[in-house]
Amino acid sequence: MISTATPYPAVLAARAGQLSTMCVHAGEDASRHGALDLPITLSSAFGFESADEAAAAFKRENDAYIYGRWGNPNIDALEAKLAALEGAQAASVTASGMAAISGAVMSICQSGDHVVAPRSMYAESARLLRERLPRFGVTTTFVDARDAGAYAAAIRKETRLLYLETPSNPVLAVADVGEIVRVAKERGLLTIADNTFATPFSQTPLALGVDLVVHSMTKALGGHGDAIGGALAGSRALVDVARDLVVKGFGGVLAPFNAFLIDRGLRTFALRQAQACATAATLAARLKTHPKIARVYHPSLPDHAGHALARQQMHAFGSLLSFELAGGDALARGKRVLEGVRVATHAVSLGDVRTLLVHPASTTHSTMNVETRALADVTDGLLRLSAGIESAEDLWGDLDQALARA
Ligand code: PLP
Repeated sequence: MISTATPYPAVLAARAGQLSTMCVHAGEDASRHGALDLPITLSSAFGFESADEAAAAFKRENDAYIYGRWGNPNIDALEAKLAALEGAQAASVTASGMAAISGAVMSICQSGDHVVAPRSMYAESARLLRERLPRFGVTTTFVDARDAGAYAAAIRKETRLLYLETPSNPVLAVADVGEIVRVAKERGLLTIADNTFATPFSQTPLALGVDLVVHSMTKALGGHGDAIGGALAGSRALVDVARDLVVKGFGGVLAPFNAFLIDRGLRTFALRQAQACATAATLAARLKTHPKIARVYHPSLPDHAGHALARQQMHAFGSLLSFELAGGDALARGKRVLEGVRVATHAVSLGDVRTLLVHPASTTHSTMNVETRALADVTDGLLRLSAGIESAEDLWGDLDQALARA
């Protein structure tokens, strides 16, 4: 819930206050021999004190580590921190976001099952559902996630899972999580939400009734663009089944060094997000009045279609926004904006300390035909910006001079 009575910067400061202590301390391990930072345990196997200890470890009667793919102190610490931030009973971290997403879906669905998913979603997640899983007998219907009724209408007797990604890429459309969860529970279905865009700073889907949250930790959770990683979080029962499949079975284990980097990045997560969300709202409001901009998409804007819903179900409006250039020749002019920025960085990914700018029509969505691209809400002049932690004034000056060239 984002109050209308409180100024947005105060909302963001309060949210950072709720999360900051967790970001620093959740998952701290007591047995670290005085080191304030958990040492990186680069051991593929762990020795036993006695034959009895080993036998008990294999029966899961003690918490001794056995082998690096089955558990490691850095992984445990990171899982505890993410579970605390998402308000989850348990979390499992994985080698990448895609490992978490494919593992989560495959741990729930089996041959013959059907999934309902948003038409506008991360491209590789869409490929998993559209191209890869049908080989194993799992099919998907894609719907406009802005319409909760479309989810309900797509449900068949074989449906097992409703998959959500909100706000969506790239126009930050907001799906009604509570309503989709209500439909799922009524029909005995499970729900998964990709919370990479919103992050637990801006949205906690488990509190809205979702069963499993999935993440690319490569993005705002790690936050420094130096480690690929993923995670899933939810009830211990669902997480244990997914971890067993994706980490132990498929081998999608997160390296201890990456677990350390992401855990370190998470200590400043709430502070970074408070700054990035404030900057995104400021840039969105200013771009709205810029003569070269036709449209701006950010849930903070009162005329954004998902604004009221975002106020109800989110803690903050998020750090991503997108905007469309006004006028003709938008494909070429979009590229000129990218080439003109000096503070923002022209790169894919999001959630970094650096502000990242992408032009989907000439890059991520360039191989799609015009109709598919339109269904994915991508126009020639659309640019997506992931706000970093640089000064909002420096970023505004940078965008303004780049737009002047376009
Ligand atoms: N989900 C979303 C929303 C993403 O944007 C991405 C990557 O960009 C992923 C999942 C996949 O994450 P990873 O690259 O860590 O596998």
